[in-house]
Amino acid sequence: MAMTKDLYEMLGISRDATEDEIKKAFRQQARKYHPDNKETGSEEVFKGINQAYEILSDPQKRNIYDQYGLKGLQNSYSGSDGQNFGFGDLSDIFSQFFGETRTHRPSTGPERGLDLRYDLQIDFLEAINGCNKQITIQSHEDCKLCKGSGAKPGSTLKTCRSCNGLGEVRRVTESFFGHVTQITTCPSCQGNGKIVEQPCSDCNGKGQELVKKSIEVKVPCGIDDGARLRWGGKGEAGRKGGPPGDLYVIIGIREHEVFIREGQNVIIEQAISFAHAALGGNVKVPSIEGEKTLNIPAGVQSGVILKMPGLGVPKLNNLARKGDQLVHITVETPTKLSAEEKKIFEQLAKIQEEKNPKKFGFFN
Ligand SMILES: [Zn+2]
Ligand SMILES: [Zn+2]
Repeated sequence: MAMTKDLYEMLGISRDATEDEIKKAFRQQARKYHPDNKETGSEEVFKGINQAYEILSDPQKRNIYDQYGLKGLQNSYSGSDGQNFGFGDLSDIFSQFFGETRTHRPSTGPERGLDLRYDLQIDFLEAINGCNKQITIQSHEDCKLCKGSGAKPGSTLKTCRSCNGLGEVRRVTESFFGHVTQITTCPSCQGNGKIVEQPCSDCNGKGQELVKKSIEVKVPCGIDDGARLRWGGKGEAGRKGGPPGDLYVIIGIREHEVFIREGQNVIIEQAISFAHAALGGNVKVPSIEGEKTLNIPAGVQSGVILKMPGLGVPKLNNLARKGDQLVHITVETPTKLSAEEKKIFEQLAKIQEEKNPKKFGFFN
């Protein structure tokens, strides 16, 4: 079973399945497809089910999967507070159900650096016009003093005796289906195959240190709320010659007091007086390009939408192609009339009713 299939489908559950339903479905499927089950066992299907369960049983991973699919999970993220949370290697098989310990590939080869995630809040107009933002990210890099080995410079690394330098240990355990060979990361050397005898004083033998980096983020014009920008190679440094991870910047747009964005259009509300609705004329209205003149046609009704072409949101990265500004007109009926206004309105009412007696009914 390929991992491109929908994870919910793999477990035979709906997208809103509860944690209990997920667990139950996993147990059923795992029993059926476990490689030791001679009738229906399939290693490939079993692996797929395990992977699906690993993701869907973890609320954080499930959330990322729901939003970004497997792509989002193949990378690891870091919160904007600089706290890293990795998702491990999806190709590992392990099962909480069979009481096995999580296995890891021995980390003796080059390792790709972790991806980092940064949530960036920008203003409404910054999203429309594009902007440059300076952000500070925290990332792990190889310790400069020991160059990532974790050993005090000049000291030597010894081959781990527990695993003979392999970085992994094998154990045969009894399970529901018989003997299961379990491969786990060597606990003595954490999979490195080597033991640091004299730890580096700068990193306490970890081989890595946390560094703050300032990065200029160029936000393109027309960006939408929730958009994800990716900078290849700007994530954490790789280990043992591995490539660096990527940096993901997730855009959040603050609301504006006047403007509302609807796709590529900008919506504003404009109140006009009763008299101007009848007479029409030019009125100054706000726009994302500053104050502009809008022509109100004589006799405009409340609720009418007037279009101001080209004053909307530009297409992503293309200032030349813009949406429109849509002005929602509200005609305000005057209240609290002065004696003078009252007199004028009475005259006006008389004229209008005489002109159109059937339509407006009889007032007295
Ligand atoms: Zn060090
Ligand atoms: Zn070891």
